[in-house]
Amino acid sequence: MFRHRGKVGEAQQEQGAYTCSGCGQVLFRAKYKFEVGSGFPSFWQQVGESVVHCSLDTYGRHRVQLLCSRCRQHLGHLFEDSRTPTGVRYCINATAINLDPEQPS
Ligand SMILES: [Zn+2]
Repeated sequence: MFRHRGKVGEAQQEQGAYTCSGCGQVLFRAKYKFEVGSGFPSFWQQVGESVVHCSLDTYGRHRVQLLCSRCRQHLGHLFEDSRTPTGVRYCINATAINLDPEQPS
């Protein structure tokens, strides 16, 4: 009796782009966002060279850390994900990005 509208797991369609909360650089288009149910905003593609990938090998675990190319703020981590067109998933901290509806989407 709940969830009459929309499909479960389908992201709400947003306009614009996500910018770095530290410096305002555009990092991800809103249309690159998708829902994985992790609680973190997830994207399957970045904008240009805006996101730097930094390999981490800590405690025997390989992870790819994501940093803003301009201000070097920590954004989140990159994971392999067979469901996306790029084969990867950008798992981003909500506090590291802001939605700017004025940006081209
Ligand atoms: Zn930044």
